[in-house]
Amino acid sequence: MPAEGPRKVKASDIDTDEMLGFIRVLNEERQQGGLSAGWVYVWEVGERFKMFPFAVVHAKIRRLIHREVLNGCPCGCRGDLVVPDLDFPKRVVWMPSLPSWKP
Ligand SMILES: [Zn+2]
Repeated sequence: MPAEGPRKVKASDIDTDEMLGFIRVLNEERQQGGLSAGWVYVWEVGERFKMFPFAVVHAKIRRLIHREVLNGCPCGCRGDLVVPDLDFPKRVVWMPSLPSWKP
């Protein structure tokens, strides 16, 4: 890699454990009391890692889903991200405050 010039930011520049840890903590908080599926949305991850362009954050999310270390949808929708070992039992109650999503 040349020493001069800015380097292009890549998905691998985002720390995997940091991203999974962030999603895991939000999953856990939101599953408290069984009122929520615990989902984390892609734009929330984008906000947490806003030092990176959102396209790079989303590329990282897609990679983690592909590697099956993260559950969710990579298509560009809200994602419904959950760290797999936290996949909650069937006590999910839909939160009516959430806007419906049509891709
Ligand atoms: Zn989707």
